[in-house]
Amino acid sequence: MTQKQTTHAESDSESTTESPLETARRQLRTAASRTDVDDGVIERLKHPTRVVEVSIPLERDDGSVDVFTGYRAQHDDVRGPYKGGLRYHPEVNADECVGLAMWMTWKCAVMDIPFGGGKGGIVVDPKDLSDDEKERLTRRFAEEIRDEVGPSRDIPAPDMGTDAQTMAWFMDAYSMQEGETIPGVVTGKPPVIGGSYGREEAPGRSVAIVAREAVEYYDERLEDVSIAVQGYGSVGANAARLLDEWGADIVAVSDVNGGLYDPDGLDTQDVPSHKEEPEGVLRYDSSKTVSNEELLELDVDVLIPAAIGNVITADNADRIQADIIVEGANGPTTSTADTILHERGKHVIPDILANAGGVTVSYFEWLQDINRRTWSKERVNDELESAMLDAWADVKAEVDARGLSWRDAAYVVALNRIGEAKEARGLWP
Ligand code: NAD
Repeated sequence: MTQKQTTHAESDSESTTESPLETARRQLRTAASRTDVDDGVIERLKHPTRVVEVSIPLERDDGSVDVFTGYRAQHDDVRGPYKGGLRYHPEVNADECVGLAMWMTWKCAVMDIPFGGGKGGIVVDPKDLSDDEKERLTRRFAEEIRDEVGPSRDIPAPDMGTDAQTMAWFMDAYSMQEGETIPGVVTGKPPVIGGSYGREEAPGRSVAIVAREAVEYYDERLEDVSIAVQGYGSVGANAARLLDEWGADIVAVSDVNGGLYDPDGLDTQDVPSHKEEPEGVLRYDSSKTVSNEELLELDVDVLIPAAIGNVITADNADRIQADIIVEGANGPTTSTADTILHERGKHVIPDILANAGGVTVSYFEWLQDINRRTWSKERVNDELESAMLDAWADVKAEVDARGLSWRDAAYVVALNRIGEAKEARGLWP
């Protein structure tokens, strides 16, 4: 093994275990070195505004009482209210919430959405809760963090272990205590109480839009490219189906059990998505199956990892054949793999841009809520298309002007916006 390979492997084992907070701080350092943003601003951005920890007592269905720990981390609100998910998971902790909140700050800034970054959750395995227990836990959590949230303060959304129903309970609990119906306190609600049409499909749609733009940027025609998609859930299936509709050949898709491969292209409408039939991909009749590892290394033009984080690592980055990688999942590429891909001339379109359709349509939902107006699905999709094209153009301008990678360019765009806002507002007192 060459010295270079050893170094990759060693540093990658570090980066795969890198916590979200370490990742977020590393990304901040890298972006800071490529901008003129004031050192004092960078120092402020290393730290969250606050992290609130609460105890949440829950009466179980059998009458006993358990106490759970909940967090809300608020990273930065210089551009607008904090925004980010609530996650119910046994491994939720304060540092993870801060790291993920920082990630939201960059994501909102690169999209030029007037929000900052937040994240929170409860240390609980939702599988251990009945529906009634989950409702009581959510309502009490909403009460415990009521002073921290609000439509102009901090706006939670669904994340791992939470969904539209969880947001409905949260919104109801908050509204009951405030004495008025306040749909804008959370996004990702059911449309009947102020949720937005098109929200569910939005991250996949933004991945598809960005993939289409990237293909065009590198002088290919969408009709001529082959695409492999890892993960056939909300992000992966929606992205695959749109790209299929727009003329691309989706030659491979997978779920947690493995994937299908057909060099002539799959019928993406027929392959069941995670929502339609969980873990149903392999039940579809296809000539060839592939493992998830093999899918990543297929000879395709575009690869869309849209399942989980850290799947492209120092171990397989040398074997990735796709020229364009569009990050549908959050953090699918480790930092060492990112460097390897960059050295190999591969183009990685980063998650904070590619899957930002989710938070963008959350912003549209909030706009609809505070204005008491409902947008049609067509309007949501049109506005998303134009928001994605604007963000794409801003990041592309940095790539073209300075020869940066797409990831570095996206972080530079985000950090410059945050830096300029902090300069304009100044430090009080
Ligand atoms: P989902 O639960 O709808 O679907 C996940 C899919 O990935 C399923 O097909 C599942 O079988 C598959 N999968 C799970 N583990 C896998 C593994 N080890 N290997 C291969 N496939 C695996 O999830 P989703 O909402 O589509 O989210 C996917 C990713 O996108 C996550 O990283 C998530 O954080 C990110 N993301 C989601 C949203 C959103 O709003 N849905 C927004 C931004 C980012």
